Amino acid sequence: MVQDALSQSENPYQIAQQQFDIVAERLNLDPGIRQILRKPKRELTVNFPVRMDDGSVRSFTGYRVHHNVNRGPAKGGIRYHPDVTIDEVRALSMWMTWKCAVVNIPFGGAKGGVICDPKQMSQSELERLTRRYTTEISIFIGPESDIPAPDVNTNARTMAWIMDTYSMHKGYSVPAVVTGKPIAIGGSEGRAEATGRGCMYTVLESLRHLGMEVKQTATAVQGFGNVGSVSAFLLHQQGSRIVALSGSRGGIYNPKGLDPHKVMRYKEETGTVLGFPEAEVVTNEELLTLPCDILVPAALENQITARNADKVRAKIVAEGANGPTTPEADEILYQKGIFLIPDVLANAGGVTVSYFEWVQDLQNLFWDVDEINRRLERIMVRSFQEVLKTAEEQTVDMRTAAYTLAVKRVAEATTTRGLYP
Ligand code: NAD
Repeated sequence: MVQDALSQSENPYQIAQQQFDIVAERLNLDPGIRQILRKPKRELTVNFPVRMDDGSVRSFTGYRVHHNVNRGPAKGGIRYHPDVTIDEVRALSMWMTWKCAVVNIPFGGAKGGVICDPKQMSQSELERLTRRYTTEISIFIGPESDIPAPDVNTNARTMAWIMDTYSMHKGYSVPAVVTGKPIAIGGSEGRAEATGRGCMYTVLESLRHLGMEVKQTATAVQGFGNVGSVSAFLLHQQGSRIVALSGSRGGIYNPKGLDPHKVMRYKEETGTVLGFPEAEVVTNEELLTLPCDILVPAALENQITARNADKVRAKIVAEGANGPTTPEADEILYQKGIFLIPDVLANAGGVTVSYFEWVQDLQNLFWDVDEINRRLERIMVRSFQEVLKTAEEQTVDMRTAAYTLAVKRVAEATTTRGLYP
């Protein structure tokens, strides 16, 4: 099994706990609170059948995990990937708790996943899988209890199926049960690009802090999906030179710069970034150590590890993905003076606009894209400055600072609510 093959330091749940322990120790957190926050509150495993296009029936395994709900309903994406494990979902749910607390929005942390290979499945198979998985986890989800969103290999289309399935069971439309929906059924303006846009705001703040000029920077982006592509488009628009981009099979590099929109058109036509003219082919591993100023890992976990952290040449690492850097690598990057914007801050734009979407659905009043982007920028800049201030005051890296703020907020909510019964 994948999980057994992972070394202790690459099991995302152990990493998430390790990151929490460091901060709990620093905050001298009460041992009782520490025990509560170290593990998810509830975990649901579902095994469910799906009829495939050829008439056969296959059983799939999925999860939905709530890490903590003391600050509000559980919030977190749903991932479809062959490597999904319960430990990965646990870690991602924990990171969601901290992320919502870092940007101070009233949600707790959740995550879901289904072990499947969506690239090998048809749209109708994916629809049946999504509708059945939604039914199986319906004892958890709801606009007041747990609100899913897109993650790796799920998108607005998937969210529409979830919203429709949940609504069919209720007998009336419940748009606020998911975020990241199409606009036509209660989605928010600006949600599709919110994570990349938020990432761009944190990069711009970092550049300002470091006294760097965006127009003189080169950017490498690992992963060219939702988060990676939007980050690349927006940084390109700001004047940064995009020197490398990659997908699951590898990447392309051109030190003179790539037009990410052209690369996207090429990817849409051919299914891959590989083969894009006038660019050198690089592996995903090589991409991380290319000469550049800004590195945006926007694919999966455990990309920057003790094995390659020393070779990273960027000045800023903006974690578009969740968990791309292991704790050992964090230490190496910090010692090298690389400025890391941790996932719980760098990619918090997605959950922030998800929050706006949920608020708009609940009040049936919708904002225009300028309003959304203005509110997003305000929250991202404020959160960045709060984390930076903590990092400077306590002489710690940005991750430790972000966790310090987040864990304090969640611990305060937990103690303020008191112990039931
Ligand atoms: P996505 O499915 O749209 O894109 C993922 C991209 O990564 C694809 O281009 C895929 O080809 C590439 N990829 C897959 N395996 C890879 C590998 N081994 N090496 C390099 N590239 C690989 O997913 P997404 O929504 O963009 O999510 C990417 C990351 O961002 C995940 O860690 C996710 O948890 C995180 N994230 C997403 C959101 C969101 O709003 N979508 C919000 C916060 C965090």
